[in-house]
Amino acid sequence: MSHCLLNENTRYAGGATRSGAVTEAIDELMASGYGIHQLPCPERLAWGGALKRHSLLLHDSKGRPLYRVRALLLRAFLLWTKVIYRRLARQVSRDVADYHRSGMTVAGVIGIGASPSCGVTTTLDMRAALEVLASCPTAALTREVMNERAVLGCRRPGMGLFVRALDAQLRRRREVVPAWEHDLAAELSGRHQGLLATPPRRVLGESPP
Ligand code: SF4
Repeated sequence: MSHCLLNENTRYAGGATRSGAVTEAIDELMASGYGIHQLPCPERLAWGGALKRHSLLLHDSKGRPLYRVRALLLRAFLLWTKVIYRRLARQVSRDVADYHRSGMTVAGVIGIGASPSCGVTTTLDMRAALEVLASCPTAALTREVMNERAVLGCRRPGMGLFVRALDAQLRRRREVVPAWEHDLAAELSGRHQGLLATPPRRVLGESPP
């Protein structure tokens, strides 16, 4: 299960809807008899801790010299992210193999919709989100701007970078794991969602390279 479903303190600023866990998601899995293995929060580990300090560099940067080199900075940031995520995904794929070797079934991975890292079928257009954040004065960066414009407004279909790395590592090990996606938009608007009410969105380890 994605880390922030058990601990929302790792969410981007403004993305947490409660102080701890998304209890209804956990209750649903527990009521269905599943054990829960918490995945690492890849952004916390790659982007400078719980506040993700490295990702704040270009906030409110429009008009400053940094803004002119944003394309270059974003490319370097993504490269760095991919290196760290490959290492984390390798560890998670080892964990999956360990459970399977030990006679247990990893029933599924639960990612987070709209996340640039943990999205299973919806992710974030990082360039578009960066434009929103670079153009918004810090004082005007409210929770609503963050969620409605920088996140939900910049969603696009696709896998997040960590889920993509995990997919590749599972494929290398010939492990397959179905993947579901927690609907961030539903959580932000307080709508109830049944995680397991729909079939898995994807099967990791099975996609073409
Ligand atoms: S979606 Fe993934 S990267 Fe983002 S806070 Fe949750 S666990 Fe961390």
